[in-house]
Amino acid sequence: MAAVVLVTGGTGLVGKAIEYVIEHEPEGSRFGKRPGEKWIFAGSREADLRNSEATLKLFEKYQPTHVIHLAALVGGLFANRERKMTFLRDNMLINDNVLHTAHIKGTKKVISCLSTCVFPDKVEYPLTEEKVHLGPPHSSNFGYAHAKRMVDVQNHAYKEEFGCNFTSAIPTNVFGPHDNFDLKHAHVMPALIHKCYLSQKNNTPFKVMGDGSPLRQFIYSRDLAKLFIWQLREYDSVEPVILSVAENDEISIRELANSIVKVMNYPDKPEFENELNDNGQDRKPASNAKLMSLIGSDFKFTPFEQALGETVTWFLQNYGNART
Ligand code: NDP
Repeated sequence: MAAVVLVTGGTGLVGKAIEYVIEHEPEGSRFGKRPGEKWIFAGSREADLRNSEATLKLFEKYQPTHVIHLAALVGGLFANRERKMTFLRDNMLINDNVLHTAHIKGTKKVISCLSTCVFPDKVEYPLTEEKVHLGPPHSSNFGYAHAKRMVDVQNHAYKEEFGCNFTSAIPTNVFGPHDNFDLKHAHVMPALIHKCYLSQKNNTPFKVMGDGSPLRQFIYSRDLAKLFIWQLREYDSVEPVILSVAENDEISIRELANSIVKVMNYPDKPEFENELNDNGQDRKPASNAKLMSLIGSDFKFTPFEQALGETVTWFLQNYGNART
C-alpha cells in the first residue's frame, strides 16, 4: 500500500519547510518524495485538532498511514506566561486527539514534536534525551511544557499497551521562511530581522535587548525538515531524538545581531540595551550526539549565514503577507 503522510501544523514554519524539502529534493532520494507517496499538509482551517470529531474527519478524509504531528498552540514568553491554562489545555487536547485517532485508525507511525523548553529548569547541561522528566520545567511556560512532555508519556503507554509505533522529536530554536516575524510575539531571530528591517527603513538605531552574551543553538527549518523525514523513514524507537546542530555551534545574540546587520546590508552596528540586566539564561546547550550517531556524519547542516540569508530574502519578498 502506498504511504500517505499527514503533516499536522502543515501551514506553519516547520510544516512549510517539510513541504519545501519534499518538493525540491530529488525524487527517490533520502529526503525526496518516494514513488507512490502522498503528502498532505493540514492547517487549523482544515481541522481544529482541539476537536475530536474534526480530528476524526481529517483522518477519515485522508486515511494517513504516517503522521508528522507538528500542530500546537505555540507562543513567545509573554503569551506562555499569561495563558498557562490555555497552553496546557489546547495542546493536551490537540495531542490527545491526534494520538488517539491515529491509534484507532491503525496509523503505522506518528512522530510528534516536543521542544527543548520542555526540559527541567534545573538540569545538568548539555540536555540529552533521557533528561526530559528529571524535574519541573521553567515556571514561565509550564503549561506548554507539561502538555508536550505528556506526549512522551503517551507514546510509551501506546507502545506498551497497544504496540503503536509512536515517537517524538525535540528541536532547538527553529528559524526560516514562513516564521512568525511579529515584533511582540516572535522568537528572537525573526523579531531581530523585523527590527533591523524597520531601523533601516526608518533610519533609526537597531536596538537589541540585553548585552548580547547569551548563547543559543539555531536550526534552519529546511535542515530540520530533512531530519523529520529521516526520523519518519529510518528511526523506529519510542524514545525521543534531539534534532539540533552540535553543542559547539552555539551562536551568541551579539553574533546573531551582527550577522543580521551584515546579511541585510544595514549600514550601522546594533546597539545593545542592558538597562534591565535581563539576558535570559546564559546558555542551554542540547547534545545532538544521538542524532549524529544514527543519521551518519555525512548529514550536513546548511551554513548559518546562508540559512539566515535565505530567511531574510523570504521575509523581504513576503513582507505584508508574512506573520508580522
Ligand atoms: P507555527 O506557529 O509556525 O505553526 C503552528 C501550526 O500549528 C500551524 O500550521 C497551525 O495552523 C497549527 N495549529 C495551531 N493550532 C491548531 C489547532 N487547534 N488545530 C490544528 N492546527 C493547529 O509553529 P512551528 O512550525 O514553529 O512549530 C511546529 C512544531 O514545532 C510545534 O509543535 C512547536 O511546538 C515545535 N517547536 C517549534 C520551535 C520553534 O522554534 N519554532 C522550537 C521547538 C519546537 P494554522 O497556521 O493554519 O492556524
